[in-house]
Amino acid sequence: MTDVRIDDLPVREELRGKSPYGAPQLDVPVRLNTNENPYPLPEPLVERIAERVREAARNLNRYPDRDAVELRTELARYLTRTGGYAVGTENVWAANGSNEVIQQLLQTFGGPGRTAIGFEPSYSMHGLIARGTGTGWISGPRNEDFTIDLAAAERAIAEHRPDVVFVTTPNNPTGNSVPPGTVLALYEAAQAAKPSMVVVDEAYVEFSHGASLLPLLEGRPHLVVSRTMSKAFGAAGLRLGYLAAHPAVVDAVQLVRLPYHLSAVTQATALAALEHTDTLLKYVEQLKAERDRLVAELRGLGYDVVESDANFVQFGRFDDAHEVWRKILDRGVLVRDNGVPGWLRVCAGTPEENDAFLDAVRELKKEQH
Ligand code: PMP
Repeated sequence: MTDVRIDDLPVREELRGKSPYGAPQLDVPVRLNTNENPYPLPEPLVERIAERVREAARNLNRYPDRDAVELRTELARYLTRTGGYAVGTENVWAANGSNEVIQQLLQTFGGPGRTAIGFEPSYSMHGLIARGTGTGWISGPRNEDFTIDLAAAERAIAEHRPDVVFVTTPNNPTGNSVPPGTVLALYEAAQAAKPSMVVVDEAYVEFSHGASLLPLLEGRPHLVVSRTMSKAFGAAGLRLGYLAAHPAVVDAVQLVRLPYHLSAVTQATALAALEHTDTLLKYVEQLKAERDRLVAELRGLGYDVVESDANFVQFGRFDDAHEVWRKILDRGVLVRDNGVPGWLRVCAGTPEENDAFLDAVRELKKEQH
């Protein structure tokens, strides 16, 4: 085939020279780089998924429930039970991963001629999905310690008047949470400037020492809380994300969603997983304990560690983080270099995986002395 590269194609200007999202998928013994849950789904749940998918398979000649009503009802029940705030089916929308939720939100509230802001370093896909939807991206500031610099953030919102404001809490890759007061102040600033939509990305909230920000939805129709089953539910392969918001927001995203975007197989699998919520959340407790152990041990070794409310830990500081990443990989452990200068991120795995990681960094420390 003739040698044709992306830039030889008539791709949109803003995609030229850009790279796709690319956490390495390497075949190494210990993979602690994509914030996955290390525990496979328990066997009774696997059986239940098979059962529900078998039922769904009998109707695969038909399109699935376009509005995923049963699934949204169960997600609403889960949020009400765990989030400190009562939501109903009409408040919840689901899609293929929270990435698709974010994409639908940007297609609805962003787009050409509009902008979105995030406070970086944060989840890189917010900016990438903004680009993919033709939404201008504004990189807002953070403090040296990775907390949000509220005064600077308010200034950036007043100056740029973005249409969408992203707040990731707990934040990825740094792990720290954003205090509710800061989120409220950002919401007020965003309303004063535009008004715009504020998307609180709570992908990791089940691992937090604190509470969900769901109660902030009360009386705030421009607030959206986004969630996922990829982390706490240990179902990254399922691709199921969801949001909670005012019912008008749920109506609005339906203007852009593809018809039948959530397959019958996905809906059946997610419903089976939700039946096993309590079992799955027990793994969350183990992972939180392991996360706290990683923080303590890394600090004990003399590393700087950002306080973590997530299932991962950002540690440093390194003159050359990428070289350290490579040395840890040489010892069979894959962590993440997010391109935050001087820092790496490790995700909490099983106790054995975390031991392997800690042994690797201990060896590195010895090498330095
Ligand atoms: N938000 C944040 C902050 C994330 O870290 C991730 C996954 N790494 C997502 C959203 C997307 O998750 P998913 O599409 O698997 O739901």
